[in-house]
Amino acid sequence: MLISRFNALNIQYKRADKKDSLRGNNSVSKFSIPLNKCFKGYIAYDNINYIKRNGESSMNLKDNYIKIRENFSKELAPKVLETELNAWDFYTNSTDDNLKKYLKSEDETHNLFKNEEIYNQLKEIKNKGLNDKHLNKQLKDLYKSFDEELNAGELKQKLREKENEIAAKYNAYVPKIDEKEVTKPEINKILETEKNPEIRKKAYDAKINGGDIIAADLQELVKLRNEFAKSQGYENFYEYQLKEEYDVNSAELDKLLDDVYINAKPLNNKLKQENQQELSEVFKIAPEELKAYHYGLISDKNPAKAINKALKTKEQVVDIAKTAYKNMGFDLDNMNITLDLFPRKNKNTHGFCFEIEPGKDSRILANLTNNTNSLDTICHELGHCVYNLGIDTKLPYLDRGTTPAMTEAVAMMMGDLLQREYILKDVVDGESLKKYQNDYKKSEAKFINRSMLIINFEREMYKNPEQDLGKLWHDLKCKYLGRNVSENIDNEWATIPHYLSHPGYYQNYFRADLVKAQMYNHLTKELGLLTENNRTAEYLNNNLFKLGRSIEEDDLIEQFTGEKLSSAALCTSLQLDKE
Ligand SMILES: [Zn+2]
Repeated sequence: MLISRFNALNIQYKRADKKDSLRGNNSVSKFSIPLNKCFKGYIAYDNINYIKRNGESSMNLKDNYIKIRENFSKELAPKVLETELNAWDFYTNSTDDNLKKYLKSEDETHNLFKNEEIYNQLKEIKNKGLNDKHLNKQLKDLYKSFDEELNAGELKQKLREKENEIAAKYNAYVPKIDEKEVTKPEINKILETEKNPEIRKKAYDAKINGGDIIAADLQELVKLRNEFAKSQGYENFYEYQLKEEYDVNSAELDKLLDDVYINAKPLNNKLKQENQQELSEVFKIAPEELKAYHYGLISDKNPAKAINKALKTKEQVVDIAKTAYKNMGFDLDNMNITLDLFPRKNKNTHGFCFEIEPGKDSRILANLTNNTNSLDTICHELGHCVYNLGIDTKLPYLDRGTTPAMTEAVAMMMGDLLQREYILKDVVDGESLKKYQNDYKKSEAKFINRSMLIINFEREMYKNPEQDLGKLWHDLKCKYLGRNVSENIDNEWATIPHYLSHPGYYQNYFRADLVKAQMYNHLTKELGLLTENNRTAEYLNNNLFKLGRSIEEDDLIEQFTGEKLSSAALCTSLQLDKE
């Protein structure tokens, strides 16, 4: 994922986590752009069309907007770059000093938007409207950033402070089992491997206690966020995020969610039954007696086990990923990619891509070990990296970036390569690989279920934050994961990191998953298997990466894959095999 993705337009830092393993896509991005010649060329070209269509006055308006935008970009770019670099320093070396520097540059970036003069100029142009879909949208977003900082700045600041406060509380929590301190990865390890239910329960409880500590605060934050959203004319903060941050139509999202839910149901029922059957055999209890702490065990039948056994070192994992990219035609060694891949003291424990400067500088923070998860992570993050580095640096500054679902889709598609293509063929025997590949559908279905749960919970939480959230989580777990009604009600929901740091982000993973299915279908039709065609890189660069966010995401998806975003490709991939 992209870790903290700075959206210059909406001044929001997004730290995105992928699936359940946390990955970050961090694109703070943006850089000092001395108005370059080619960019002037764009203006001139556009203007000719404008004079033809609209005559002099709208040309002046557009010219005027571009002038304001470019002047502001010159101020914004160095601040954003500084913030990106400080974020990188903090995430790779989390000292108090580095945190201070990071927060300071973040504040300074926000302050740039407290400029009344630019605000008024943008307002005037916005009221008249520009005769250009993309520019109009960009203008609207830019205007909104100024509007929020100037008119709701205090409340926004309060939201940021509350968020930081809760994060600090959660980070300071040290889980314990039998009075002995354990790390969060150790807890996960127990839940993946331990067959003694008593130890499992202790590990599960230690995890949930972290949620208990922040649940009430999180509920308060949700109310505070809603207050802010209402001041912006929205029913609640979730609806605000959907529209303003992701430009997603709420009704369209509903339709996609429904389609996938219905289509995945037969496969899900089958998998649920298999899983419960397996767990009830391991723990020697009836399926109806299974509790939350029984789930998560990786069974001996899981084909990833054979791959993990064959992956001997973490360096080998990196080599496999690099070779896969080389075979697609990406010359990683000659791209400006910084890799900080292995665990270290004072370093963030997740995985992220920092888009420091689009087209110029991309970095990955990860904590790899020798297993398939790590290989997925490095392939995924490299996907964000090559996308970011492929962006045309001649684009206007505000267009040099990626759109949220598109970059996530590329990264997720790259992460899938280990299960969809043959990059592991020199590591394990053919039969083990085939079993692992056949399991792809299962991982997709799992991801979909979990997304449904997380997305629907979040929506309902913002709709009515007063309700019993533990009960809501429990009911939705029964509905989407097929869990037993007899499971206890607890604060597991509060341990989902996105709810705190990336409100509304999970629907982006979900949409990216749909884009990914559509994109992979399209690409393999054009190119065959991606890792067996060294023109893949060129194709992606020319048809997608270089465009940055100069085109609205929905249009970009349609232009690139030849079809509007729909659930069709994913639903097809989730159909049950005919027995
Ligand atoms: Zn990602």
